[in-house]
Amino acid sequence: MTNPLGIVGAGIGGLTLACALEQQNIPFTLYEQAESFEALGYGIQVSPNVVRVLAALGLTEKLEAIAHRCYGFELRSFTSDQTLIKWQLPKNQLYYQCRRADLHQLLFDGLRDKSKLNFATRLTGYSQTTDKVALKFEHAPKVEVAGLVGADGVGSPTRRQLMLDSQQTKPSYAGYAAFRAILPWRSPYEELAGRATVWLGKNHHVVAYPNGNLNHGEQWLNLVLVVKESQWQEEGWTIEVDKSQVAAEFQNQSRLLNQILKDMIASPEPCYKWGLFTRPALPFWSQNKVTLLGDAAHPMVPFQAQGAAMSIEDAYVLAQCLQRHQTTEGAFQQYENLRYQRATRMQITSRKNADIFHASGLKAIARDFVFKIVDAIAPNLMNLKSAWIYDYDVTKL
Ligand SMILES: Cc1cc2nc3c(=O)[nH]c(=O)nc-3n(C[C@H](O)[C@H](O)[C@H](O)COP(=O)(O)OP(=O)(O)OC[C@H]3O[C@@H](n4cnc5c(N)ncnc54)[C@H](O)[C@@H]3O)c2cc1C
Repeated sequence: MTNPLGIVGAGIGGLTLACALEQQNIPFTLYEQAESFEALGYGIQVSPNVVRVLAALGLTEKLEAIAHRCYGFELRSFTSDQTLIKWQLPKNQLYYQCRRADLHQLLFDGLRDKSKLNFATRLTGYSQTTDKVALKFEHAPKVEVAGLVGADGVGSPTRRQLMLDSQQTKPSYAGYAAFRAILPWRSPYEELAGRATVWLGKNHHVVAYPNGNLNHGEQWLNLVLVVKESQWQEEGWTIEVDKSQVAAEFQNQSRLLNQILKDMIASPEPCYKWGLFTRPALPFWSQNKVTLLGDAAHPMVPFQAQGAAMSIEDAYVLAQCLQRHQTTEGAFQQYENLRYQRATRMQITSRKNADIFHASGLKAIARDFVFKIVDAIAPNLMNLKSAWIYDYDVTKL
């Protein structure tokens, strides 16, 4: 490659790709629309398939310093607070929970040569010829790169141009809104430590897990309150909301969850409502010297907690393909071949989880019955169900 590779988007996927390329000594430049580095967001679950990638990038120690170890999961009924099922991860599976902002910062810090990262460069379009891609920016001169990786999120302008002929050029509302809050850790939450707890209801589901590292004097409770709402009426994708109204909407039978909702009202931290937007699976991600990565390629509802995980896996695999191939086109094609099926399956699984989490009537009765039976007989069966996700090791492909 004469020109460097161009990566658009310094989110979790773009920065992971930058770290992986730097490790392989592959030249690249990263373009981000934000004015400066801004690590945002609430909690994030870092599953074993991601931990392996971060280890391969030499970031394990840093991850452990910002994260809380998760040893298992518990599903409870939102209406009765009864435990439906509880299971432990296999001992060799390293699963963590941390603040999304801390994970983003960790990746930013992991990039040694910061001069490769350009802020305030918003991609507006590109054109490609046989030997290069020309990138156009809003307030910056055009640049030529050897290939373009659109790691520019669910609203991806790269995807928009790549799929120009497709009808589906805009993200669509998935029918769910999520209220997200982060609270200082308190002793009443102790029963939630070391696991992710999910309350399942007809119109509501709630995910609560700790994040931060208590050994470093910092720990929080991450709260995601999801409501089924057929339409998204708000301007933009996120709005600050009245916390009392959220607490009233999510009143339930759980003493602990109601206490958490009270704490949320008392906390000085704001609570935001996010519309969950997604897009259908694409027929392809790459066209010659242009490809997509992460949410730009395969956005998903967050009900398997694997959106960022797929971006991170994509990034690692793409760097390996670029290392192995003489041509950018060949590398992009191999990357797509290796990643397409898994990422598309994850989109479908996440969507199916929405139906399971929000089941009603007979479906909910059947769901709860099955969970209780599995809980009584062999709760570890749940690990078999998720083995295709957590046991996967992109560092060995
Ligand atoms: C409620 C909720 C909970 C979640 N929980 C989890 C979880 O527990 N685990 C998990 O793995 N995932 C989770 N996710 C999903 C995860 O947050 C996303 O999948 C992940 O952030 C996608 O990363 P990305 O780098 O592909 O895109 P993004 O993070 O969206 O990054 C895209 C970047 O591109 C930049 N950009 C956009 N347009 C341009 C442009 N024109 N020019 C230049 N730059 C541009 C943006 O500014 C941004 O920095 C959750 C999501 C939600 C909504």
